[in-house]
Amino acid sequence: MNNQQQYQGGCFCGEVQFKVTSEPVLMAYCHCESCRHWSAGPVSAFTLWKPDTVEVTKGKDNIVSYNKSVDSTRKWCKSCGGHLFTEHPSMALTDIPAAVIPSFPFEPSLHVNYQETVLPIKDGLPKMKDLPKEAGGSGDLLAE
Ligand SMILES: [Zn+2]
Ligand SMILES: [Zn+2]
Repeated sequence: MNNQQQYQGGCFCGEVQFKVTSEPVLMAYCHCESCRHWSAGPVSAFTLWKPDTVEVTKGKDNIVSYNKSVDSTRKWCKSCGGHLFTEHPSMALTDIPAAVIPSFPFEPSLHVNYQETVLPIKDGLPKMKDLPKEAGGSGDLLAE
C-alpha cells in the first residue's frame, strides 16, 4: 500500500488540506445547470472517488457544508469560500473538482448532461444527453 499514488488538494486559501489516494472511479465534464451555478463556471471538470480514498489532513474545523438535495453535501472552506468536494452518500462517491487537486492528471472520458450545455466542447469525447444508465440516466448520446 506504500507505493499508492497520492495527490494533495485544498481550498483557495490553503487552510483546509486533503489528500486522495489511488484512482478515481470516473473523470468527466458535467454541463448541468446545478454544476454551473455551484461552480460559477460554464462547465464542471470533476472526478469521482470512493469516500475512503479522500482524507482531510488539515483544517477540518474550517469545513462547512450545504445540502440543497439530500444526496449532495457540498463542502467548502469557511475562511475563503473555496470549494473542496461534494459527497454523494447514496452512491458512496465523493465528487472533487479537478481544479482543487492541481497535481492530479485529469483525463476525462466523457461529458454528461450535455443537453444543458452553454459551452459546447468539440474534443471528440462521448457526449451523454444526461447520465449513464448505471447512474440513473438514459445513457443516450448526443452529437457534439
Ligand atoms: Zn480556505
Ligand atoms: Zn452537473
